[in-house]
Amino acid sequence: SAPDRYAVIGHPIGHSLSPQIHALFARATGQRMTYEAMDGGAQPGGFEAALAAFIAAGGRGLNVTLPFKLRALAAAHAASDEARLAGAANTLRFDAAGRIEAHNTDGAGLVRDITARLRQPLQGRRVLLLGAGGAARGALLPLARAGIACLRIANRSADKAEALAAEFAPRLPGCPVRGMGLEQLAALSAPHEGFDIVINATSASLAAQSPAVPAPLLAAAALAYDMVYGAAPTPFMQAARAAGCPRQSDGLGMLVEQAAESFAWWRGLRPDTSAALVAVRAALQAQQRG
Ligand code: NDP
Repeated sequence: SAPDRYAVIGHPIGHSLSPQIHALFARATGQRMTYEAMDGGAQPGGFEAALAAFIAAGGRGLNVTLPFKLRALAAAHAASDEARLAGAANTLRFDAAGRIEAHNTDGAGLVRDITARLRQPLQGRRVLLLGAGGAARGALLPLARAGIACLRIANRSADKAEALAAEFAPRLPGCPVRGMGLEQLAALSAPHEGFDIVINATSASLAAQSPAVPAPLLAAAALAYDMVYGAAPTPFMQAARAAGCPRQSDGLGMLVEQAAESFAWWRGLRPDTSAALVAVRAALQAQQRG
């Protein structure tokens, strides 16, 4: 029989590292599967048409990336808590009848990678989350489930952080969550009102900027984590280092870990991620050199 077929769909999709990551996982775990990159195009209905064609051709599952994560959830017949609360799906699987099930592994991938960077569980940690967009939203439930002590959401537009906190407060029992504007962070005095982990879920690094976090807050944190990844330290990582934060990380490990979570959801077994992270780091550096 033909190997099981998987793919990642996005637009654009040319630089996606996911085919390489899943090829490494498949080889390491001995799974007979293929994994390709598909461009969903820019025309209306393009994503839905590509999805239907992939299912009709016998495809088993998809990863979904920008800009289709919301439409992937809308297209599904059933969704996990993670996908529903994130309001977006990054992973789909299809049963024999063609029914679509949606999941979101980004937040679990984030928690796994932060745990690896910290070399300690997130249990009891105080977390500052910068940003109130899709990436921040998807992180909330997995962070709360990891047992963090409290969560503060700070965003450039304060109203978006406040709305996100208000929406999630009843859904994150045991994890007090509050939203505020980035500029209000200056009123907090580290380390007393400080945080153990500062996560940058804004896209500011893509514009060569760091969200304005007061240096004392960065200095008091054990880890500054940027969801964005690149060959060089991101502006946020540079700001954290300059402030004296002892450990900084980009989001490449999150990418690898969310892929492993998706792989496990499809195949029923979890691949080792450390070798894949080394290989993907090298590939990213080569991509950015040439
Ligand atoms: P959104 O467009 O939904 O949200 C962007 C957020 O960034 C908003 O909160 C926005 O604030 C804020 N922002 C943008 N520019 C600035 C700036 N210059 N200063 C301060 N805040 C700023 O994006 P997503 O949530 O989807 O993605 C955020 C980032 O996370 C992306 O860069 C993406 O690459 C990364 N990501 C990484 C993943 C991984 O696997 N490593 C997975 C998913 C995402 P405002 O509301 O005020 O506009």
